Amino acid sequence: MSKPVLVVGAGPVGLTMAAELARYHIPVRLIDSTAARTDQSRALAIWPRTLELLDAAGCADAFAAGGLHAQAVSIRSGHDVLARITFGDITSPFRYLLMIPQPETERLLEAHFQTLGGIVERNTELTDFVDTGNGVSCTVRLADGKSTRMEAGWLIGCDGAHSLVRRRLGLVFGGDTLATGFIIADVHVVGLAMAPDELAIFWHPDGAVMFFPIIPGRYRIIADIGTVPAHAPDLAAVQAIVDQRGPGGVILSDPVWLSDFRVNERRVREYRAGRVFVAGDAAHVHSPAGGQGMNTGMQDAFNLAWKLALVERQAASPDLLDSYSIERSAVARQVLSDSGRMTRIVLLKNPVARLLRGLVVRGMFRIPVVRHAIASRFSGVTTRYDDTPLNGGSARELRGPRPGQRFVTDCIIGAGDMPRFTLAALDDAEARAMIARHARVLGPEICRPPDENGIWLVRPDGYVAATARRGDWLVIDAALAALTLPCPDRIRACR
Ligand SMILES: Cc1cc2nc3c(=O)[nH]c(=O)nc-3n(C[C@H](O)[C@H](O)[C@H](O)COP(=O)(O)OP(=O)(O)OC[C@H]3O[C@@H](n4cnc5c(N)ncnc54)[C@H](O)[C@@H]3O)c2cc1C
Repeated sequence: MSKPVLVVGAGPVGLTMAAELARYHIPVRLIDSTAARTDQSRALAIWPRTLELLDAAGCADAFAAGGLHAQAVSIRSGHDVLARITFGDITSPFRYLLMIPQPETERLLEAHFQTLGGIVERNTELTDFVDTGNGVSCTVRLADGKSTRMEAGWLIGCDGAHSLVRRRLGLVFGGDTLATGFIIADVHVVGLAMAPDELAIFWHPDGAVMFFPIIPGRYRIIADIGTVPAHAPDLAAVQAIVDQRGPGGVILSDPVWLSDFRVNERRVREYRAGRVFVAGDAAHVHSPAGGQGMNTGMQDAFNLAWKLALVERQAASPDLLDSYSIERSAVARQVLSDSGRMTRIVLLKNPVARLLRGLVVRGMFRIPVVRHAIASRFSGVTTRYDDTPLNGGSARELRGPRPGQRFVTDCIIGAGDMPRFTLAALDDAEARAMIARHARVLGPEICRPPDENGIWLVRPDGYVAATARRGDWLVIDAALAALTLPCPDRIRACR
């Protein structure tokens, strides 16, 4: 029996990671140092790409039912709407931004993990580990203060921004902390003359104030405040900012969370050292602008889980795991750059720069293609892996996505309890023969190709691995041979 994968940290990323491994029947243990789930609402936004991956995992319906479906975000100045971006034409089955507080996200993920037979081992803190080459010997401290040893096949640090795993690996968390402080408040709001399913950013010479709907009538409010105060803000301080920078007539009450924070923009370059990985905030932290932090982390987990599952099932070489760091660190670099740019635009104080900002935003956002491109980028559907070693043959003349790009289809790619690649091609004898030949790693379903003259080989996480001209099955065979291992005779369970 193989040693379990040890996932450290039962935040949204660790829960996603553990649930995905459990879905693929990989033995996994999930530990967390705390006694209970967080009650801080922190991440509110789940973007369409994350929902697509949750859908393949089998739990998107519970999320969709449990949150508010936001339809648009607007940039305003007083009563003036400078720009409005809608989410309704994002190329995804999920054409909205799901607003759902982080404790609820964690509750749903934990319930999903439990349906797969998993439990979160709480009051269990990782204090040390040694990579022994064929496993990881971990030391954990239990609730009674006693230390014990856990032997793991692999260790995945989903242990947040102050990650012990990252520090023990000596990975440099390079980047900056912004000087500006922000306040955050979850409050009841009346008098905001706006659709209840719309996010709004109000620009004002003194700074910005942003409204994010949580449930009808209740909003998350964020505003920049110059320097971080010695104490968390009270409701009166937030009301004063809203009065000054908002549209007027907005009354706040019943705060459930009042806090302040500084923005950290940091990431590691390497997400893997031998048998140890980092994911989520342990690997990258950024401005909450754009609501990308948790989404990026959960997508790290989806990316690593299918690869680790194939390796653990001896259906792929451990070399496959090197692509995790290459792919996900490139995404984090992009997210950091986008959210950092957005934050700096919001924080502009110079009157001339602010004037220019207003003109550019009004002009640019009038163009539908610009609005669509921005919504698509934030939604995660344009994420692509151009430089991954996993990209195989490419038939450039075909209409449709290239290797590394997300495959858009009516099929649900990556569902089920095995990480399998999917074919999109004409459903003929050759396609069926290919599936029979690679039945262990190639799913039985054949999806409709975007161009009948081509074949698409799609990874379990929905990105194209290779394309070929119709009939050119050797290219697909070669791509699969490069990504996976033939079934060894001794494994009876090869399916
Ligand atoms: C104010 C605010 C607003 C945000 N808004 C958004 C948003 O709208 N959208 C978005 O995508 N993101 C948002 N984020 C970011 C988001 O909250 C984080 O990216 C997300 O929580 C990261 O999840 P994680 O699982 O990586 O880490 P965490 O949620 O930090 O979880 C780490 C877990 O590891 C445990 N742990 C730590 N060390 C150990 C150890 N040694 N042993 C055992 N357990 C350990 C901790 O107890 C914790 O439970 C926001 C963040 C803030 C602060």
